[in-house]
Amino acid sequence: MRLLAWPVFDALDATTKRKLKGYCVGTPEGLLAPADLNYISVAWQMNHSCQPNVGFNAAEDFVAMRAIQRGEELCWDYAFGESNPKFRMRCRCGAAGCRGVVTGRDWQMLVNDPDKAKYFSAELRRHIAAVLPAPSFENPLSLIATTSDPSST
Ligand SMILES: [Zn+2]
Repeated sequence: MRLLAWPVFDALDATTKRKLKGYCVGTPEGLLAPADLNYISVAWQMNHSCQPNVGFNAAEDFVAMRAIQRGEELCWDYAFGESNPKFRMRCRCGAAGCRGVVTGRDWQMLVNDPDKAKYFSAELRRHIAAVLPAPSFENPLSLIATTSDPSST
């Protein structure tokens, strides 16, 4: 993967932009794009679910979050990787507790849940470390205390 900076993306034609936005994870700086769009692994084709069955491990590989039934579609929660604050898509995943809308800020809801946060991508972990003051990713609750401290406003 490589970062395709927003100014570079903005200069592309509409068809290429649409394809890239359909496959790539966004960050505030740009899209994380595959090195070669002609060779996209199956992982780039995976859909979102608000009740995902796969997430990332430390090596950025997808791993099962629970037992997966034969024939069950593999889905990940885009909040495990998406950090583009402008990203927004309607969700029709049909899962219990579907958020209805998926945004590039959804990780902020999930960072408190160790059962979800442990499946965040390495890139998202780097983003969180950069945007939250004095965070300890291993202790997500410290992130909440830091960001909701009324004395800091
Ligand atoms: Zn959903």
